Amino acid sequence: MSKIAWNSRGYKKFDAERAQEYTRIANEVFAPIYPVIADRIIERCAIEDGLCIDVGSGPANLAVAVTKRTRFVTYAMDFSSQISPMAKENIIAAGLTERITPIVGDVHRMPFQDDAATLVVSRGSMRFWKNKPTAFREIRRVLKPGGKGYVGGGAGSTELSEEIGRRMSAIDKGWDKRPKFKYRKNNIPYFEGVMAKAGFNRYEIINDDSGFWIYVEKER
Ligand code: SAM
Repeated sequence: MSKIAWNSRGYKKFDAERAQEYTRIANEVFAPIYPVIADRIIERCAIEDGLCIDVGSGPANLAVAVTKRTRFVTYAMDFSSQISPMAKENIIAAGLTERITPIVGDVHRMPFQDDAATLVVSRGSMRFWKNKPTAFREIRRVLKPGGKGYVGGGAGSTELSEEIGRRMSAIDKGWDKRPKFKYRKNNIPYFEGVMAKAGFNRYEIINDDSGFWIYVEKER
C-alpha cells in the first residue's frame, strides 16, 4: 500500500520517502502522459520562449517535456524540498541542466518577481492548494502581460487515463479510493469565482478527456 495521499484529505508535504515513491511512479507509470500534456499546452498557449514555471512540479517530468519541445528557460518549483534532488536527477538525465532549475517555493507566495514568466504550467498540484484564489492571484502576478497559464490535472487522454488506472490499481490499493472526478461540471461555478477573485478576465475551463484544466491569459 502506498503512503502517498492522492487527494487533499490526509495530504502531507512529501517527506524523503514519499518523494522517492512518487518519483518512481511518475518516472515509470505516468511517464507517457507528460509529452502528451506538454503538446497540448504548447498548442493551446502558443508561447515557446521566455521563462516557464512548472508549479508543484514534483520530479519535474512536465517541466522536462515542455522544455524539451521549446526554447524556454524553466523553473521546476515545488514546496517540498525533498523532491528537488529527484527533479535534479530527471533534469540531468534529460540533458537540460542549462535550462531547468529546481526551486523550492509555495504557490501561495511564489519566489519570483512580478511579470517574470511567459508561461506557467502545473499538473496534479492544484487539488492540494489550500487557497486557490491566492494561488491564482500569485500566478497572475508572476506572469508577464500577455503571459499564459495552463493549470489542472489529468492524464492527457482517456486511453492514458485507463492505462494508468490499471497499472496504479495493481500497485496501490488506495488508488481506486481517490476522488476521480473531484473537478468536474459541478466545480465550474466555483472556479469561475476563483478566476474573478484572482483577477483573470480571460480564461477557459477545459473539462474533457484530457482532464480538468484552466487556461488563463494575463491581459497586455
Ligand atoms: N506536477 C507533478 C506531476 O505531474 O507529476 C507532481 C504532481 S504531485 C501529485 C503534486 C505536487 O504538488 C507535489 O510534488 C507537491 O509537493 C506539490 N504541491 C502541493 N501543494 C503545493 C503548493 N502549495 N506549492 C507548491 N507545490 C505544491
